[in-house]
Amino acid sequence: VSLRMVNLNSILATIFPLIQADVLKRNNDVKMEIKDVPDLILDENEIRQLILNLVRNSLEAMPLGGNLTIKTFQDKDFVVLEVQDEGSGIPLELLDKIGTPFFTTKDEGTGLGLAVCFSIAARHNASIEVNTDSSGTVFSVKFCCHPTPK
Ligand code: ADP
Ligand code: MG
Repeated sequence: VSLRMVNLNSILATIFPLIQADVLKRNNDVKMEIKDVPDLILDENEIRQLILNLVRNSLEAMPLGGNLTIKTFQDKDFVVLEVQDEGSGIPLELLDKIGTPFFTTKDEGTGLGLAVCFSIAARHNASIEVNTDSSGTVFSVKFCCHPTPK
């Protein structure tokens, strides 16, 4: 773990080419809605991994195409990162299982992506909220602006 003061938007900028390549390969589109946010104490590599895991799931949820939307913004004492897709959503009865290691609904899934996201979020005192319905899913990662990192 290597924590330092860094801006979430600059981390996003470093992986944007990767995301864009994935998006193009799959016939999806990506929209970035980036607002100024304060620097946070983060492990840059872990946050890259967290974002990429969420993005991968979003793209896998839209095999027939659709928009991936990535947002950053400040909401009171929180910096929020949202990864949104236009897939068919997560069935409510699965919602409490998706973070369990090895839980997958995919033929070739590992079921590890979200488990990793949740542990990275926990190490950053961040929370992950999921909003989902039949028109898509939003994962919101909320970082406290004044964290006490573990
Ligand atoms: P994997 O992607 O290997 O299946 P994950 O831990 O990343 O493992 O995700 C676990 C499960 O959560 C997925 O198999 C899928 O059922 C569900 N899931 C995660 N993200 C999404 C999403 N954006 N839309 C629909 N289902 C999702
Ligand atoms: Mg995954």
